Amino acid sequence: MRLSLVIDELMKKDLVNVIDEEVNSLEITTITRSYKGEKVLLFTRVKGTDMPIVTNLIGSRRVLKEFFNAKDDHEVYMKLMKACEMPIKCKEIPFKNSSFTRRIGADLGRLPQLVYYPEDPGPYITSGVLIAKGVKSGICNASIHRLLILGKERMTIRIVPRHLWQLYKEAVNEGRTLPVAIIIGTHPLILIAASSSPPFGVYEVEVANALMNNKLEITKSPNYKIPIPAHGEILIEGEITAEEEDEGPFVDLTGTYDIVRKQPVIRVRDIWTSEKPMYHAIVPASREHMLLMGLYREALIWDYVRKVVPKVKKVRLTEGGCGWLHAAISITKTTQGDGKNAILAAFAAHPSLKFVVVVDDDIDVDDPYQIEWAIATRFQASRDLVIIRNARGSSLDPSCDQEMLITDKMGIDATIDLTKPRDKFMKGKLMTKNKVNQTLKKLK
Ligand code: MN
Repeated sequence: MRLSLVIDELMKKDLVNVIDEEVNSLEITTITRSYKGEKVLLFTRVKGTDMPIVTNLIGSRRVLKEFFNAKDDHEVYMKLMKACEMPIKCKEIPFKNSSFTRRIGADLGRLPQLVYYPEDPGPYITSGVLIAKGVKSGICNASIHRLLILGKERMTIRIVPRHLWQLYKEAVNEGRTLPVAIIIGTHPLILIAASSSPPFGVYEVEVANALMNNKLEITKSPNYKIPIPAHGEILIEGEITAEEEDEGPFVDLTGTYDIVRKQPVIRVRDIWTSEKPMYHAIVPASREHMLLMGLYREALIWDYVRKVVPKVKKVRLTEGGCGWLHAAISITKTTQGDGKNAILAAFAAHPSLKFVVVVDDDIDVDDPYQIEWAIATRFQASRDLVIIRNARGSSLDPSCDQEMLITDKMGIDATIDLTKPRDKFMKGKLMTKNKVNQTLKKLK
């Protein structure tokens, strides 16, 4: 299902805000980052392009559960991890039956040129699912990378040393370029699968197919015969070359500028679009960016912690912690050391994690005030604080030693001490809100 059909479905469920006022891309960034609601944003009039632009597509848990057809977070985590373990081969259809019906040629200028922040070096593509097939190994991989548009047929790609990097090196070692297909505006579950980290060799599109109950069709890309999702809004075929250009500065997950690096250049061969393409923009440092990056890690933390503590209520890579560096976890504590063990398990699950706070199940970890309240009333530093010095950190964290990527880590066990009388730590109860809502409404 391509993006416009996904949006149609979400419209029926009243999960889309349509913005008809004319906006430019910098304004889209501000609106998307300032919006605190749960719905998808659809901009119908964007300066410089005819394409409607969607942001905040995977921007809330509410919509995420809709895509997963799941009743709660736990079901989302379970489905995602199971799909990564048991991907399903996709049914293939001919390219002529795919949604890429219009060939527009090798001209990136025909796509929206979105500059997200004033200091950006140029327009970026942020939502492209990049699919590569190893020139020797034949291994397929799907991942999302930011792409800086340099001209009609050229862009630089930021590649971190993971799976795509391995395939790229494989091609370079053979003295070849790496053919790739980039899909924009495809089903959100494909983006989620491409943002997850199953082992090298597992094709993320087949993970998405497992999430989609075996309904995902693939096709072969026309030039390079790469197996790609058959339904999307835009398809770019090109080659990652040995040539390098500057990439950045670019605002990353933390909301701060990532440095400029020499990165590989992609040479575009051809571009196709759907009949009436709709464009997906992942605004850097938005909640959608955080959810996409963090969801799989959150699922892992949940899984690791539930192996050492009887009941995990909620896990959050918190928004203040950039959806990546900080976690808050609520557990049902049954033995005195549970809080500490939960801290250790969380650090093991997510190597970039820098800070974790563990609270009891009466605290909602979606509410930073409740977390602070738990720290204020249940935590003693000399007893409940865990500091790990000189561990591996994240390049995203500007305070981390950038050369060695060394960081300190901190865990706070803000759960109730089981040796003390529990009553001392419980909140005085309030009347349920609906009983007093009438009165509350009258108050200014
Ligand atoms: Mn992979």
